[in-house]
Amino acid sequence: MTDDSRIKQFEQMASADPDNELGHFSLGRAYLGAERFDDAAVSFARVVELNPKMSKAYQLLGEALDGAGKRTDAIDALTKGIGVANELGDRMPLEAMADKLRSWDAPVPTYETPTAEAEAPAASGPSAAGFRCCRCGRPDGQLEKRPFKGDMGEKILANVCNGCWREWIGQGTKVINELGLALSSKEGQDAYDQYMLEFLQLEEV
Ligand SMILES: [Zn+2]
Repeated sequence: MTDDSRIKQFEQMASADPDNELGHFSLGRAYLGAERFDDAAVSFARVVELNPKMSKAYQLLGEALDGAGKRTDAIDALTKGIGVANELGDRMPLEAMADKLRSWDAPVPTYETPTAEAEAPAASGPSAAGFRCCRCGRPDGQLEKRPFKGDMGEKILANVCNGCWREWIGQGTKVINELGLALSSKEGQDAYDQYMLEFLQLEEV
């Protein structure tokens, strides 16, 4: 698929379902790939508006703003992103954003460095509510609401933590990009669901 047709497909996804952060995230990535930095910045700004806790989107927003020649705004986005990533313990985007700020000689906000305790799942067993993420085994960080309607949304709410769900959103975007999945078709949707089940280890739940 060419960049242009890919972008058209994601533009359709984003406008068909304007409150779906995944659509805007995918579109932003496609714009970024085509070096349409201003457009990418608009898409990622929409993602963080819809989901202020998606740390990876701040990272890409910063990249897009910098590409568009807006270094000050880029620094602002990454600084916010580091705060979010720090709060959620998203190590990879956190380090990437901190490295980027350092490379610009911009101040890097202080953040916690992980401890062995924070990295390991809690040893004290399931939380009072009995939630334990089926992918990472953590007893905390349950989603506050189902991510979409239907049985699958309920299943994810009951079994997948917020961190793993957000990781899937990043991964799902890659799957769509790399396979050129058309989510408007049944085959595309089925393939996407299959990857999601595998990634979240939901098959045997
Ligand atoms: Zn998890």
